[in-house]
Amino acid sequence: MSSNVLFGTNGIRGIANLELTPEFATKVGLAIGTYFGQKRILVGYDSRTSSPLISRAVIIGLASAGCDVFDGGYAPTPSIQYAVKHFKMDGAILVTASHNPPEYNGIKVVGGDGVEIPREEEIKIENIFFGEKFTRKRWNALGSISIFPGIIDVHKDAVKKHVDVKSISKKRFKVVVDAANSVGALITPYLLRELGCDVVTLNAQLDGNFPGRLPEPKPETLGDLASTVKAIKADLGVAHDGDADRCIFVDESGKVCLGDSTGAIIIDYILQKHHDGIVVTPVSSSKMVEDVITMRGGKIVWTKVGSTTVSKVMQEVNSIISMEDNGGIFYAPHQPVRDGPMAAALMLEILAKREKTLSQLVAELPKYYIIKERINCPNELKQTVLDSVLKQTEKLNSLTLDGIKISFEDGSVLIRPSGTEEIFRVYSEAKNEERCKEMAAWGISLVEKSIQSLNSKKK
Ligand code: MG
Repeated sequence: MSSNVLFGTNGIRGIANLELTPEFATKVGLAIGTYFGQKRILVGYDSRTSSPLISRAVIIGLASAGCDVFDGGYAPTPSIQYAVKHFKMDGAILVTASHNPPEYNGIKVVGGDGVEIPREEEIKIENIFFGEKFTRKRWNALGSISIFPGIIDVHKDAVKKHVDVKSISKKRFKVVVDAANSVGALITPYLLRELGCDVVTLNAQLDGNFPGRLPEPKPETLGDLASTVKAIKADLGVAHDGDADRCIFVDESGKVCLGDSTGAIIIDYILQKHHDGIVVTPVSSSKMVEDVITMRGGKIVWTKVGSTTVSKVMQEVNSIISMEDNGGIFYAPHQPVRDGPMAAALMLEILAKREKTLSQLVAELPKYYIIKERINCPNELKQTVLDSVLKQTEKLNSLTLDGIKISFEDGSVLIRPSGTEEIFRVYSEAKNEERCKEMAAWGISLVEKSIQSLNSKKK
């Protein structure tokens, strides 16, 4: 953790019991509790080996500051976010490192509206933490700590209210759910069975060693899901990340779909119902998403990468449906945050109503070739490398909301430092495969050359 900043783009993250120790987590809990005052705070966590330990440490800090704490136990992030509003709590703490490797854990803070608190509020917590301005209550004003079961069922029932259960049930879809050995296993298989699907599960036992696959759902980690879908002739494969706020789909042929494609399919369907709708999406999404929105008479609002930003902007512009290219779907009539089980239910409704397979729906989308690459880069070099790339591309048509997205007539290249990992991401897309490869190679060379020249200067 650096000297006066706790929160990154995805809350507080670190290696469990090394950077994110119980003592540190208790102090963070105390700072968050001081920030909220004597309020009702819900806590939930994912299946990581360190989650019971870290969550209890946070709870101790919260109660010491006078908050009444409700321990929701193992729960998906979207279940906690839904429950905060439903049970009129004042806020929530999520102990999860989402898609990060098993050794990591994290702490996120959610407000009473179920949305992660904005950066300005995080700074208030950081000021309390680093200034040690903690409220420590006397023995007769300590917060209570109680077990609070049932939030997952409340969330599951809410999702069901937003889809046409009858139409989905009639189809008797066969679906394979890969829950990543984490909390998605506690909701999605049950939800889909209640929607009349025949569900087969993979990695549905909670295990923080993630023996089945790593928590990030991507083609490299979803081989078992893809081959199972194909082998048993399922209609759909559903994969969540570690805290089940994201959903990546596998089509009936066993192909892992890009989040851009499945997001565009969901957006297309929702915008058909609400013409002139506004869709918020980060600069990392494909131009294909914009094409689909324009075809439906909707409007796109580009943002920085980060689900909290998407949620915030979505509320400001009154968007019904928004997406991220990593499989995040935000459906505001339910809740304006990404929600994996909600995304799965919407996709099933689309398959039922459109009477098409997922591969057919993907084939109907505007065709773009997309390449997503990563280049290792230490955190301390990121800004200098980005400045150098900006300088080298200053005469080109670009968007610099987050990193730099350079648009050409026949495609685009996005170059941006990751907010959570020591890497630069280079995404290129074009209507022509050769051109897409050529632009990806150009983007990668810009970053690599900048890193090399910095390294040679150091020597
Ligand atoms: Mg997540």
